[in-house]
Amino acid sequence: MKKFAKIILHPKKERSLRLFHPWVFSGAVAKTEGNPGEGDMVEVYSADGLYLATGHYHDGSIKIRIFSFEQTEAAEDFWENKLRDAYRFRVNLGLTADPFTNAYRLVHGEGDGLPGLIIDIYDTVAVIQTHTPGMHREKENILRGLENVFGTQLDTVYDKSAETMGKKFNLPAGNEFLFGETSEKTVIENGLQFKVNWVEGQKTGFFIDQRENRKLLERYSKGKKVLNTFSYSGGFSMYALKGGAEYVHSVDSSKKAMELSEQNAALNGYSERHSHFLLDAFDYLKKSDEQYDIVILDPPAFAKHLSAIDNATSGYRNLNTEGLKRVSKGGLLFTFSCSQVVDRQLFRKIVFQAAAQTKRNVRIIHQLSQGPDHPISIYHPEGEYLKGLVLVVD
Ligand code: SAH
Repeated sequence: MKKFAKIILHPKKERSLRLFHPWVFSGAVAKTEGNPGEGDMVEVYSADGLYLATGHYHDGSIKIRIFSFEQTEAAEDFWENKLRDAYRFRVNLGLTADPFTNAYRLVHGEGDGLPGLIIDIYDTVAVIQTHTPGMHREKENILRGLENVFGTQLDTVYDKSAETMGKKFNLPAGNEFLFGETSEKTVIENGLQFKVNWVEGQKTGFFIDQRENRKLLERYSKGKKVLNTFSYSGGFSMYALKGGAEYVHSVDSSKKAMELSEQNAALNGYSERHSHFLLDAFDYLKKSDEQYDIVILDPPAFAKHLSAIDNATSGYRNLNTEGLKRVSKGGLLFTFSCSQVVDRQLFRKIVFQAAAQTKRNVRIIHQLSQGPDHPISIYHPEGEYLKGLVLVVD
């Protein structure tokens, strides 16, 4: 058996691991035997010496991210088996052989027992994003695992970790092709076409997590005037247009996003009913006096850490107040938060406060989350990062 450094917890601090929570916080650690460095694999033991779990060791308040609750050497086949499990689950979801959708998330961090790892599939391309040095080091094993699981189905594997690794860990992880060289594709989602460029685009190139919520919007869009703020490549906009919207206004402050949403509108034959405004969404909402039947608010995460939660709360409140003002009587507001630290209860409270400011009658008709290819481990509630409400506004 390979020798790992041992992390020994304070008495009673093993409880969360016994309940399969995949994070060990620094305050729980009593002693370290060996000298683990950033990203090394370690084994975690209770105060009375019982093995609990194996994970990657890091500086910071989350000291260890667990990838196994059974003793393992975590060699090459370990990672391949994890990827195979993740793939099998997507097969069961019907996502790997869907004639109308070929973009899906293969690995969703803790939700797939792989903390710090995201893998998105765009037809024949896999885009990897690591969020920890420990997982970044497994890159070669992950690549080999992908090759074995997918065989010849993949022609490109791209590592898009520069931003996630550089910001947090100061690691010079570059964005790079691990295999192949395709940098852009037109994918399909529920029959709609979207141009995705993982090299230049935001995150891994496309926001797959909103697939089901965009589909819901399609259902309500017939004949409607729709405003889609923070529109990126026009995901919600295209579904509204497919559903028969009278017109859709997309608003995003990024020039690249505007180009993408306009290209996607053209690809799907919707340019005549679609306009994009290259503006700050807050400004647009405040300055416009236009009333819409449906308004979508899908901002980037306002709070990345607990420390930013107060500012984020007032940001969301302000945004929702302004968004509600743009909804015509009887219209709908689709409002989202993807900040992990703003939980569902807090998000609802913020939207409640925004509603109270407008003094309008506001009712909840749907409570939304991320799609099923972004599973949430029941033992890791923090994995539920995307929260959405659909409101009827009278
Ligand atoms: N709804 C999109 C994803 C949104 S991602 C989809 O379904 O694909 C968030 C977007 O907000 C990004 O495109 C970013 O460029 C944009 N953005 C960030 N700050 C903004 C601001 N202040 N005003 C307008 N857009 C903004």
